[in-house]
Amino acid sequence: MAQNFPTQAQVVIVGGGIIGCSVAYHLTRLGWTDVVLLEQGQLSGGTTWHAAGLVGQLRSHANMTSLIKYSTQLYSELEAETGLATGWKNCGSVSVARSADRMTVLKRTAASARAQGVAIEVISAKEAQDLWPVMAIDDLAGAVWLPGDGKANPTDLTQSLAKGARNRGARIIERVRVTGISVADGVVTGVETDQGTISAEIVVNCAGQWARKVGLMCGVSVPLHSAEHMYIVTGRIEGVHPDLPVMRDPDGYIYFKEEVGGLVMGGFEPEAKPWGMAGIPDDFEFALLPDDWDQFEILMQNALQRVPQLATAEVKKFYNGPESFTPDNNFMLGEAPELKNFYVGAGFNSMGIASAGGAGRALAEWIVNGAPTMDLWPVDIRRFANFNNNPRWLHDRVKETLGLHYAMPWPNRELDTARPFRRSPLYDRLAAKGACFGSKMGWERANWFTTEGEKPVTDYAFGRQNWHEAVRREMKATREAVGIFDQTSFAKLLIQGRDAAVALNRICAADIDVTIGRSIYTGLLNDRGGYESDLTVMRLATDRFLLVTGSAQAVHDADWIRKNLTADAHVTLTDVTSAYSVLALMGPKSRDILTRLTSADLSNESFPFATIREIDIGYATAYANRMTYVGELGWELIVPTEFAVGVYEALHDVGRDFGLTDCGYYALEALRLEKGYRAWSRELTPDITPYEAGLGFAVSLDKPDGFIGREALVAAKARGTSSKRIVQFTVDDPLPMLWGGELILRDGQPIGEVRSAAYAHTLGRSVALALVDNPAGVDRAFLEAGRFEVELAGDRFAATVHLSPAYDPKGLRVKV
Ligand SMILES: Cc1cc2nc3c(=O)[nH]c(=O)nc-3n(C[C@H](O)[C@H](O)[C@H](O)COP(=O)(O)OP(=O)(O)OC[C@H]3O[C@@H](n4cnc5c(N)ncnc54)[C@H](O)[C@@H]3O)c2cc1C
Repeated sequence: MAQNFPTQAQVVIVGGGIIGCSVAYHLTRLGWTDVVLLEQGQLSGGTTWHAAGLVGQLRSHANMTSLIKYSTQLYSELEAETGLATGWKNCGSVSVARSADRMTVLKRTAASARAQGVAIEVISAKEAQDLWPVMAIDDLAGAVWLPGDGKANPTDLTQSLAKGARNRGARIIERVRVTGISVADGVVTGVETDQGTISAEIVVNCAGQWARKVGLMCGVSVPLHSAEHMYIVTGRIEGVHPDLPVMRDPDGYIYFKEEVGGLVMGGFEPEAKPWGMAGIPDDFEFALLPDDWDQFEILMQNALQRVPQLATAEVKKFYNGPESFTPDNNFMLGEAPELKNFYVGAGFNSMGIASAGGAGRALAEWIVNGAPTMDLWPVDIRRFANFNNNPRWLHDRVKETLGLHYAMPWPNRELDTARPFRRSPLYDRLAAKGACFGSKMGWERANWFTTEGEKPVTDYAFGRQNWHEAVRREMKATREAVGIFDQTSFAKLLIQGRDAAVALNRICAADIDVTIGRSIYTGLLNDRGGYESDLTVMRLATDRFLLVTGSAQAVHDADWIRKNLTADAHVTLTDVTSAYSVLALMGPKSRDILTRLTSADLSNESFPFATIREIDIGYATAYANRMTYVGELGWELIVPTEFAVGVYEALHDVGRDFGLTDCGYYALEALRLEKGYRAWSRELTPDITPYEAGLGFAVSLDKPDGFIGREALVAAKARGTSSKRIVQFTVDDPLPMLWGGELILRDGQPIGEVRSAAYAHTLGRSVALALVDNPAGVDRAFLEAGRFEVELAGDRFAATVHLSPAYDPKGLRVKV
């Protein structure tokens, strides 16, 4: 063992790339100084050293943008603190559009960037050329200019972060390889290395493209796979100078930055080249892969079109470095659901330099507070499950994810690779009926159904897409007759044990200690009173509850519940998602159909709203839960998987007489939005309380033993009007389509952002749920007094606020 090799530390970080060093830096800034960082080679020698160093702030999620905004601030200040330069240059960036659709994307981006406080200007192609004179512009539709963007030197930045951490007491040790992770009773206890063991309270896996392997040392899934990422560096080019902004040409899949009077040119080609199928060599240090001009050709061709001088420029160096990519092109942060006190910060999808400042801070705060301090769901490791760690699936998926950086971010864009992945028992039946499938949490789900002559393929557009009429048909059937939705992808958790009721009641905001057979809609709140989930709790027995939650939330919700069970509670949690299909039978004729298939009494008196019964349906025995997500009479039939096909066929046999129609998720989304129903991760986030969401009715402040988040809600009530509120809007003009992310204005001033939107066929216009934010408070008077508009790619449309649901089945029905 090396002299002075530590034997214990509060935190051990595995990996000395930019991410590990940023986590060490931020932990020490938060006062946690007993930190040891272990690097198997030299700092930054993994992937970090050969990064191009672009730092662009724009992301599709506001909180992700705010992380990178913080990175830019940190990188500009770090040298003053540590004395080590970072190479940070605030040169700004230009992004150009080759098509009208791309220009729409840039304008939409500009609106949301402004809402997030990022400086951005929509400019003409000529103005772009003034900023970036070496480019040809004859094929361009326009551009945007982000003066706050920049570039940095990745190795210097890593060293500077490491110095900052060391200065506050962290120990950073190179040439130590972690060979194992020690675990006792489901809790991490330290690491084994080639130089001895270190016991630790917390271990952080920042091992870059080795992070999957480090995770497997202790049964933790870190789903990532490497792919080759390439750029060239040219000799001097006339007109290229050190202050030249970064330039992105996403339609050509390429980016440029200045380096020593020449250009760095790289990109994200649509079909990437996976690497490292047999594992990543431990000694892959300051190493590159062979040049691959064939793979690079598509980028080179597009670059020659943009910068004609490249044709005669000398190519001084070809960098081909592997980088790790995740199944959805977002990185992974957080405590692993499989192992307590084991954290992950990995899978940076070629955005690690830009993200490192903010991601390192966010992970350090998560460690110190034991929970994230803001909504980090897009990057939360719990959005993945162990099946996502399948190596063949990852290999096939990352071919597509690398290219997503510059692919058109069409509304409703689905990924095409490595599908189908998870299939409902009804998959073939729905496919035969013309289902156009999308994918959520790996599940194939019908988005919409074709009619005669249509192909089950979505034609993407920012206006109405080719399924517009299909969704009208499905919504009309549900509102006026009856629709059937395959919601098998719903996550289902069974909670059992003699303490189940008491334990769950502390975790749920509503009172779930109800009579057997009741179904309760509730939020699961954090200490801030914000939503960690919203779900339905069904009491099946004194000591047994079935929880049905969103498709993407199985791992997340199970983890949240387990973490909040006391050690001595007599409670078990089992994920029974695969055991049941869910068929939602929704619409005014749903009772007529079900009555013909069951001996159960379905009358309002015997089977009221918010109750669950085990009933016979055809030959099957299944749970029927009287709930609705569409605002109509209906039952969610929770059917053992092996009976799903039989129940589906029986419903259709009878349903023929009642106009039963197969419906997809696009219709479901529009139906719920017409009714103003909120969805977790869209309207309901860890930063939003039930009062701000307008869901105060689903909170039982007076429960005898309280619940997590209660104190925050009591304090919020005492403070009165909140600065945030979820508000339903419709657009007055019947033509525009909203997709989410659009800016909301009140009396001409930005006031919020659309979180979910759809075309409300029942109302004949677009409907949205938006987050309205006003420091002085958002109350009824404020909403009634304002003149609201929504901004769509630069155009503004009048919008109407709805303080009660825009679609009210008891009120006026607008005919489709
Ligand atoms: C060609 C190219 C260009 C890029 N350009 C940009 C860009 O312009 N902007 C941008 O934001 N991003 C860019 N990136 C991405 C960026 O480089 C990465 O996202 C980032 O460096 C990832 O940092 P990391 O700390 O996660 O990984 P790494 O830098 O790989 O660090 C992980 C470290 O863990 C160590 N390790 C692994 N296993 C063990 C073990 N068992 N014990 C001890 N140590 C271990 C490794 O040796 C390694 O040093 C680019 C990437 C490539 C390939």
